Amino acid sequence: MSSAVMNPGAGSHGIGMTSQRTRDRMIERLREQGVRDERVLAAMAQVPRHLFVEPALAQRAYDDTALPLGFAQTISQPYVVARMIELLIAGRELGKTLEIGAGCGYQAAVLGVLSKQVFAVERIAPLLARARENLKQIKLSHIRLKHADGNRGLPEAAPFDTIILAAAAPSVPPALLTQLAPGGRMVMPLGGAEQVLCLVEHKESGFVESRFDSVRFVPLLPGVA
Ligand code: SAH
Repeated sequence: MSSAVMNPGAGSHGIGMTSQRTRDRMIERLREQGVRDERVLAAMAQVPRHLFVEPALAQRAYDDTALPLGFAQTISQPYVVARMIELLIAGRELGKTLEIGAGCGYQAAVLGVLSKQVFAVERIAPLLARARENLKQIKLSHIRLKHADGNRGLPEAAPFDTIILAAAAPSVPPALLTQLAPGGRMVMPLGGAEQVLCLVEHKESGFVESRFDSVRFVPLLPGVA
């Protein structure tokens, strides 16, 4: 785990929901929903999710729901963040990690607590700027953000031990497979109107795919905006 120091109360938008207790309640709910990995739970207990949403939505930041980020995008629901990272980290460390679709930076922050090397790309420039501000607030400076089309991965920093997509595609983007290190894992929402979480493992025998929960994510779009 990285030794990032965070001060969850600092710069908060409101009152009660900024407390560790509110976050701990979210963690209890995640446990009830079946999340077991203590590292993931500890990381999510640490990251002040309310700092990543619009001030007007801060009261709802710890509800188990996706929330609007503007630009027709949403911050993923806590359970889905936990579930995806749990699939990636089971029985190993995350290692060098790439997130596609940084949005407001929340999931990047959780990844940043769990890994010393995190790269996150986002196609919408103003969202990326917001992610940058949010991550600065909580002093997770080792997360590198880039304005880019994640369909292409991030060739200059490849290969990655872990790749996580926060936007859905009808098939696995081929560039991402070529950037997944041997032994690496990638998780993504696969599909269009109907989506499932898909885990791809880069094994000696090749890429092995498994499917999990049905989910609903915004689409992975082409190009930058
Ligand atoms: N992980 C984010 C969730 C953001 S929603 C969070 O914690 O807030 C998904 C994000 O994927 C959106 O911000 C959207 O702009 C971005 N996205 C969609 N297609 C993309 C692409 N091709 N490259 C990079 N980002 C993309």
